[in-house]
Amino acid sequence: MREIIHFIGGKAMDHGSRQGDVFDPNTGAVQAKVQFGMAATVDAAVEAAAAAFPEWSATNPQRRARVMFAFKALVEKNMDELALMLSKEHGKVIADSKGDIQRGLDVIEFACGVPHLLKGEYTEGAGPGIDIYSMKQALGVCAGITPFNFPAMIPMWMFGVAIACGNTFVLKPSERDPSVPVRLAELMLEAGAPPGVLNVVHGDKEVVDAILTHPEIKAVSFVGSSDIAQYVYTTGGAHGKRVQAMGGAKNHGIIMPDADFDQVTKDLVGSAFGSAGERCMALPVAVAVGKGTAEQLIERLLPEIERIRVGISTDPDSVYGPVVNAAHKARVENYIDMGVKEGAKLVVDGRGFKLQGYEDGFFIGPTLFDHVKPTMKSYQEEIFGPVLQIVRAESLEDAIELPTKHQYGNGVAIFTRNGRTAREFASRVNVGMVGINVPIPVPVAYHTFGGWKRSAFGDVNQHGPEGVRFWTKIKTVTARWPEGDVGDQSFVIPTMR
Ligand code: NAD
Repeated sequence: MREIIHFIGGKAMDHGSRQGDVFDPNTGAVQAKVQFGMAATVDAAVEAAAAAFPEWSATNPQRRARVMFAFKALVEKNMDELALMLSKEHGKVIADSKGDIQRGLDVIEFACGVPHLLKGEYTEGAGPGIDIYSMKQALGVCAGITPFNFPAMIPMWMFGVAIACGNTFVLKPSERDPSVPVRLAELMLEAGAPPGVLNVVHGDKEVVDAILTHPEIKAVSFVGSSDIAQYVYTTGGAHGKRVQAMGGAKNHGIIMPDADFDQVTKDLVGSAFGSAGERCMALPVAVAVGKGTAEQLIERLLPEIERIRVGISTDPDSVYGPVVNAAHKARVENYIDMGVKEGAKLVVDGRGFKLQGYEDGFFIGPTLFDHVKPTMKSYQEEIFGPVLQIVRAESLEDAIELPTKHQYGNGVAIFTRNGRTAREFASRVNVGMVGINVPIPVPVAYHTFGGWKRSAFGDVNQHGPEGVRFWTKIKTVTARWPEGDVGDQSFVIPTMR
């Protein structure tokens, strides 16, 4: 059976005695084994990254940008191969895999502007004969720990900006779909990044803990579920690291009575069920505001849900594919059971969905609940599956309160034709990313990505200017030059020949 191993110092590396299963979510079969590293594997990766750091950080930013341009071109050239690899391990359809890769490439494109992004500030004459300037310097060896749901985009969010800024990097991707991250590291080497600049170590908690406690690692970026994010944030912080840790989500779509219902229906179907709901910016909660809004919505949603074709991830006609593994399928179906027990009305039941010829695949049909209440656990927690929950609200005030009081605060969207309503909502809601008639308001690469409350621990967002801030430290120089001749003529400044 194929074994997926680490990538350290520019080479594939066999290290570790434990393995994990990588499933084919379409068939339910194990398609590969991934080697789980140990603390010593992390040591080896850090050693390679530390050895590469002096030269890489001293490479001028234009040259580093050229590597980023070359990497972008290589990923584009290999897009079909990467998308297929991703769909086969994750279970998202090819179009979504290409989107996953493209959103990562957008960040690489942003990182290509690194010479401009690293420019410091300068004040002439801050005092008599005194000038002040600041520089943004690389931190050293940095690390990223990523979730299964965007195995291309999220690693690129992290290493794209970190490497362009002059750091060297150890990536610990999700053990559930580890092939694409390794391929990206190979392409980075091919693009001209010296060996050791980007390393990949596979594993589970053992490797994560080794990263969080390693004295040589200066900064850790994490994306995953909230309890682990909080653990990473506190443990990494206690070991003196700069940490940003993005967590789970439960994004609300507020539907005002004056919304464009045709558009809302399309948007909800795409954002609640697309990628089997395994997106941290999915819209799994629809808040229907005012009398009759929920009924109108359900009437339009039902035929659209009926039309959703659930199929294998490599079938171009599938709208969405299986979820990532059997444990996740069971977890999502448990939440559906819970919703029923809690008294929500199950309008469409996706449990027990079987795809002919793929009966052991991890498929779940689209599921719709109505009359979901904020007191229900199935509302309070993240389900991360193809499940849409309708909550009924009487007024805009109630609709603002729901996402504001929820434990998660990643994204939210409001659908209305009233600019004043939208403006007030955007200003008051206690959530990090807001869409106005935009269902999945993922900011573009040159803005920044980050939620609030239990959706993100730490103060600095991913990519954009915030990313540059996270992956660099500022040094400020205050300089005064003595007047008069240089006394000691034996000291000669060397000249360039
Ligand atoms: P996860 O928390 O299970 O895993 C994330 C990473 O943590 C993986 O690399 C995993 O190996 C590691 N990990 C798992 N258990 C660990 C433990 N006990 N100790 C240390 N490390 C551990 O998350 P997932 O299931 O891979 O991804 C889905 C989650 O990620 C969802 O909650 C989703 O909302 C969230 N997510 C958030 C964002 C965001 O930007 N806020 C983006 C994407 C996904």
